[in-house]
Amino acid sequence: MPIMSSDDFSIHRDGCDEVGDGMPISDLPDEVESIEDLDCPCWSEIDSLAEIS
Ligand SMILES: [Zn+2]
Repeated sequence: MPIMSSDDFSIHRDGCDEVGDGMPISDLPDEVESIEDLDCPCWSEIDSLAEIS
């Protein structure tokens, strides 16, 4: 499940070192349309949004 950082609202994978204090979210925000919209290196192993659940 993705985690939303409560500091800057960035989205991270569960267990990311950068997320700090975050909140699990069941769905990605509408603004996120492709994997490139997720800036953190923790997404580098993921090829497409379809793999995120
Ligand atoms: Zn991250």
